[in-house]
Amino acid sequence: MLPDLSREELGRYARHLIIPDVGVEGQKRLKAARVLLIGAGGLGSPLALYLAAAGVGHLGLVDFDVVDVTNLQRQILHGTKDVGRLKIDSARERIADINPNVELTTYATTLTSQNALDIITKYDIVVDGTDNFPTRYLVNDACVMLGKPNVYGSIFRFEGQASVFSTKDGPCYRCLFPEPPPPGTVPSCAEGGVLGVLPGLVGTIQATETIKLTVGIGESLVGRLLLIDALTMQFRTVKVKKNAACPACGTHEITKLIDYEQFCGLKVEDGGSKMETAMPEITPVELAARLKAGDVDLIDVREPNEWDIGRIPGARLIPMGKFPEAAAELDRTHDIVVHCRSGARSGKVVRQLQAAGFTRVWNLAGGILRWSDDVDPTVPKY
Ligand SMILES: [Zn+2]
Repeated sequence: MLPDLSREELGRYARHLIIPDVGVEGQKRLKAARVLLIGAGGLGSPLALYLAAAGVGHLGLVDFDVVDVTNLQRQILHGTKDVGRLKIDSARERIADINPNVELTTYATTLTSQNALDIITKYDIVVDGTDNFPTRYLVNDACVMLGKPNVYGSIFRFEGQASVFSTKDGPCYRCLFPEPPPPGTVPSCAEGGVLGVLPGLVGTIQATETIKLTVGIGESLVGRLLLIDALTMQFRTVKVKKNAACPACGTHEITKLIDYEQFCGLKVEDGGSKMETAMPEITPVELAARLKAGDVDLIDVREPNEWDIGRIPGARLIPMGKFPEAAAELDRTHDIVVHCRSGARSGKVVRQLQAAGFTRVWNLAGGILRWSDDVDPTVPKY
């Protein structure tokens, strides 16, 4: 039995109720719906705002992060006053203001193989607003196991993707991409950047698909991948077929959830893989002393547009893409320090140089961000 709409709700949703395809029946379905949002960031912002405003009766929100000033360019669920607060706390305040009828359940955690099934099983539809591959595969596999539709979206720079996966007859994310990419081959938003409005565009498409699925109208993105290029403003869809060899929804060989952090090269709480030798590191304070002494070759492996934002005096720019070829120009008898924004990309360059036989090479711990914190606050953080 669908819930009744109160007098206040009849007024609030008036512009839905007069659409014949939605009507009172459709609005009641929205009120009865339980939708889980994974992430309260760029995609999660328009999702939470629009789904709350549209009258989705119960929203779940999973996010462990706190609001950072670099989020505000796109994560419009949060404001300047919220910097430093948990995202789920500022989200709760904003959602209550938009629509006090929404019942919100928050989960201040990352989604893991341990908790994913317990959380997801309580919902009808899952909307994936994550920005990383480990969680994306985890969400996909959990949705396939539980038979929950997974409304997918992803963003990078000017490009976006959206689809609806893991419905009863449709394909899943693994039908398209069976295995996670090898560690270090895919830049994250933090490394690659994203146009601020892009998550607004893609998240709003995910919200639209969620509403259509809930009300039961229209033609969803099941079996189609929407590709958006904001620079040329071209939208196209490509067909995605259910893959009989898909390890998740085809052969069902994936029978339990896996945490992919180890494979994707992201930080793992227990300290990561023990297989590799320790990364040779130098702290910003140590580097400052070495630069003063003038006995170190400091190489910035970021991109030229990042170099333009700010740089460490004495560094020279050799973008990561120029390696390993650029290594031929380096003096291997000299001490070399490599740095990037946070230390991730430069760590990869250190490994490449080590593989090429360099022994006197160090990674700047924490990158230019920590340099700004520990040595020179006039270097902007971004
Ligand atoms: Zn599949």
